[in-house]
Amino acid sequence: MSKPKFHYECVDCGKLNEESQIKYVCPVCSKSNSSDLPPKGVLKTIYNYDDLIDNGIGFAELKQNKFLDLLPIKTLESLPNLSVGNTPLYAIKKFDNNDLGFTLFLKDDSQNPTYSFKDRASAVVSAYAKEKGFKTIVTASTGNAGSSLAGICAAQNQKAIVLVPEAAPMAKLTQILMYGAQIIPVKGTYDDAFDLSIKATEEFGWYNRNTAFNPLTIEGKKIVSFEIFEQLDFTIPDTIFVPVGDGVIISGLYKGFEDLLKLQIIDRIPTIIAVQASNSDNLVRNIKNTHFEIQKSTSIADSISVDIPRNFYMAQKYILKYKGAYMTVTDDEIMEASAALSANTGLFAEPAAAAAFAGFLSYKKLDQIVNNSKNVVLLTGSGLKDLKAVGSLLNMPNAITPTLNDLKKIVS
Ligand SMILES: [Zn+2]
Repeated sequence: MSKPKFHYECVDCGKLNEESQIKYVCPVCSKSNSSDLPPKGVLKTIYNYDDLIDNGIGFAELKQNKFLDLLPIKTLESLPNLSVGNTPLYAIKKFDNNDLGFTLFLKDDSQNPTYSFKDRASAVVSAYAKEKGFKTIVTASTGNAGSSLAGICAAQNQKAIVLVPEAAPMAKLTQILMYGAQIIPVKGTYDDAFDLSIKATEEFGWYNRNTAFNPLTIEGKKIVSFEIFEQLDFTIPDTIFVPVGDGVIISGLYKGFEDLLKLQIIDRIPTIIAVQASNSDNLVRNIKNTHFEIQKSTSIADSISVDIPRNFYMAQKYILKYKGAYMTVTDDEIMEASAALSANTGLFAEPAAAAAFAGFLSYKKLDQIVNNSKNVVLLTGSGLKDLKAVGSLLNMPNAITPTLNDLKKIVS
């Protein structure tokens, strides 16, 4: 029998698990998980890197096969027939009409099918489910993950079931309903919905997409690192600013670069800067704590407003191992950054993405960005997903009569 393509390694105990025996978390570490702390036992997907090197797999070969060698699926045909990933990376050299002295690159992941970064994870999860014969995929979500799963499942002829906290805003649910998924509002919080979705997975034999709980969410998200490497002419940037909630996107970024490092395609990991909202800072505030302390999250950037970061331990290990940085920005800074980003670049991003941009602006203001360096901000979703959040920035003028006289009073 040939060697399996990949296996899982528990991020906490390091124990290896065969893919055929397990689909989600480490059975040992997850036993002591409680609903009021970040879960232990999240799995990292490990490929046969030495074999790939021996077989002469470099970046060109990986790219030629659309990174299938580093994906936990058998064939690319299992992926949805939608354009997921391959999003633009825009180089910005001027801001507010001033030369920056370095290059800012904006990775615009609002250009995914459902307008968010989450499609990268949903596509791989959906493809894996297809190969394993699952017809139904369930997820707990407060918005983007659910709408992403719903859209990808619609394209794949799979059934999506999305458990949402009953207080979830209607605007975020519209996409889910339009894609024909089943929404089940749950009394309580996102965490209650999360726990119920796991019980439902066991009871009904569905496949579960929950972020981090399903290790393949990280595998889908890592592809962004391969794209950044290629778009920067096969170099790695100096810094990458990334919005952080559960810690899965930042872990995906690290995992992508770590795969390239293990394949000896790159020789260092870029400095990744985790940006959280100061009203939702449970991940960065606890990075150096021995006991995890939860504070209730209230940030306007709702897709990174998280009480219990589901991928805390993996993100923490990555940030400490590869000397990443971390910071918080206030909701006011997020709103200012959102307006500055839109007006300067033509990219209207959701508040979570604007948080990453606010982190960049804060570094810039403090002259913490090196001259001639390459700096990436990951824009994770479209501003159209949360119009209410920017309502306070808008000053809508009253209508005028359709006469030049009235127009002149305004524009002159
Ligand atoms: Zn373990």
